[in-house]
Amino acid sequence: MTEPVRPAPVLTPDTAFFWEACARGELVAQRCGDCGELAHPPRPMCPRCHSLRREIARLSGRGEVYSWIVPRHPAPIGFAEPPVVALIQLDEGIRLVSNLIGVATDQVRNGMRVTVEFAATAGGYAVPVFRRSS
Ligand code: ZN
Repeated sequence: MTEPVRPAPVLTPDTAFFWEACARGELVAQRCGDCGELAHPPRPMCPRCHSLRREIARLSGRGEVYSWIVPRHPAPIGFAEPPVVALIQLDEGIRLVSNLIGVATDQVRNGMRVTVEFAATAGGYAVPVFRRSS
């Protein structure tokens, strides 16, 4: 078996829970322990009520393409072909930057329904990627 070439995520004290969940095949987000606001990317303080109490919320992994690009220059590291980089609007109301897989660029549309999968990275981690779901 060959080692995945996709670069490993960089874990920080704020983001480690997110990447560790991805390695288990779970999509999660930070939820405020006081007001319940979801936030992504994870951060030390709630952007709505400034609470420092944080919880982990399991997400459905379903959403839609909000916007997307194909980066051509400079060539992305770890990809034979440039990936489709998409901003995904999750059904829970937060957005995250990810890749679309299994779809030709001339088939990608804003509003296209997608479901999460996980792509292995170097170092034994995984990152969320999205595939067309309908
Ligand atoms: Zn809050």
